This record gives sequence, C-alpha cells and structure tokens, in this order.
Amino acid sequence: MCLLCLPPSVAPSSPWSARRAFLLAAGASAAAPVLAQVDVGSASSLRKLVPAETLENSAAQQYQQMLQQAKAQRALAPAGHPQLQRLHAIAKRLIPHAAPWNDRARQWRWEVNLIGSSQVNAFCMPGGKIAFYTGILDQLKLTDDEAAMIMGHEMAHALREHARERIAKTQGTNLALRLGSQLLGLGDLGNAAASLGGQLLTLQFSRADESDADLVGLELAARAGYQPSAAVSLWQKMGNATGSKQGGLAFLSTHPSGPARIRALEQNVPKVQGLYEAARRGG
Ligand SMILES: [Zn+2]
Repeated sequence: MCLLCLPPSVAPSSPWSARRAFLLAAGASAAAPVLAQVDVGSASSLRKLVPAETLENSAAQQYQQMLQQAKAQRALAPAGHPQLQRLHAIAKRLIPHAAPWNDRARQWRWEVNLIGSSQVNAFCMPGGKIAFYTGILDQLKLTDDEAAMIMGHEMAHALREHARERIAKTQGTNLALRLGSQLLGLGDLGNAAASLGGQLLTLQFSRADESDADLVGLELAARAGYQPSAAVSLWQKMGNATGSKQGGLAFLSTHPSGPARIRALEQNVPKVQGLYEAARRGG
C-alpha cells in the first residue's frame, strides 16, 4: 500500500478544494499529540467522510485474503521464521507508542506478517495490518533500527489515516455533493467505503502523506528506543539500491523527493534524539 514509495500520482485539482472549508467545519480535526516532537500538524478532516470502522473492516478482509493467497503459494512465513520473529519484536516495542496518534489504535488488532517476495516493500493497512516482503529486508540488509523506521513509517500511514483521507479526496466530490444535499445516508457511505477497500493495496499516497509518515514514524521508533539516525541510513540505502539492477527501486531515480526526504529526516533527527536516549535509559 505504501509502496515505499512510488511517485504519487499528480494530485488532481478539483472542485474538492472549494468544498474544503465546508468539510473542515463539519468535523473537528485530530491534532497531533500534545507532546509530539516532530511538527506534522493535524490529520486531515477530509478523512472523516469515510467511516473508519468500515474501512478497517474492509482492510482486515483484504489482508486475510492476501495472507491466504500467500499461503497457497507457500510464500507466507511461518510463525517460527527468524525474520518474522524479528519483525514481531520490533512491532511489540513500537505499538505501545501508537495510541497517542490515534485513539482508535487502542482497539486495533495489530498483525505483522512476512511474505516471501523480491519486492522491496512493506505496508500497514488501516486498522494495523502490517506486512513486510522479504525483498526489503534482504536486499537492503536492514538493521533492526532501519526495519523499525520502515515499520514506524507504515504504522504512521495507518495512524494518520492517510488511506481514509486519500479515498475521501479521490471520491470526495461526489460524496460531498450528495452529503451536502442530504441524499446520502450512512449506509451509502459505508457501502462506498467497503467497495473502496478493495483499492487499498494499490493506493498511492501523496508526497505530503509520505513526509508526514516519515516524521511520525521517526518519532514512534525513537520513543521505542530505535536510533533516529537509522531513518537517514535507511533512505541512503534505498538511494544506493536505485543504482543497482533492482527494478523495484527504479522509481527513486525519477523521484525528486529522495534527497529532500533525507534532508527532512536529518533535520528532524535532533528533535527526537532525546526521546531515543530516554527510551534507552528506560525512561
Ligand atoms: Zn509511505
């Protein structure tokens, strides 16, 4: 889902923006936690057009289908797989720091799975359904700190409800028009969200979503005691891999956000360094 991170499709300028004021007025925005160290502002209120619970249920179904397919292809890592155990250990440290970013996360049934595939990718679907492909662990030879940065980034997409927001934005004009004319019942919204859930695995986030996930993920990982500078080395590895023959990373060569992304992370590392050091001290 995250595609770590394919060039976002060019954001369409639509009548949507004209409706933004109405929608912002329609629901209070979810602020970043008071104690947040990275400056990412509030999550978009637009996401509230899509019912969270419906989207999470739809994501859970899609996740199960994906696991079944992987299992049928003998590509699903069994419980005792060392790399899967490593991912579970990382998740166990990150998850306690998730709820301040999203109240709903307290009820999420987090899952982490590892799929045998050369794809350099990972994702976290709405509701906390995480998957890593072996390609990203093996090809980038990730340290635990770097893998935690990826997991934090993916968890941040779910916590900040970027999929919900993206669906609201792409489908929003029609929904908003119908909502505005009061022709749309809650059932219709639910149906729309359920049918859109099928798009979750191919959804592309905007560059702004990616920056947001980078910073929130950085803070999550720091609070869990993972070295913040690993976010920088991770993206350097990604960049270096672009030069090799790994077609899955070809996107970075045409994606201008690569160096800018690293710079933004470098600027934010000092902001969370204290959190990391406190976590290491057990504070
Ligand atoms: Zn991402």
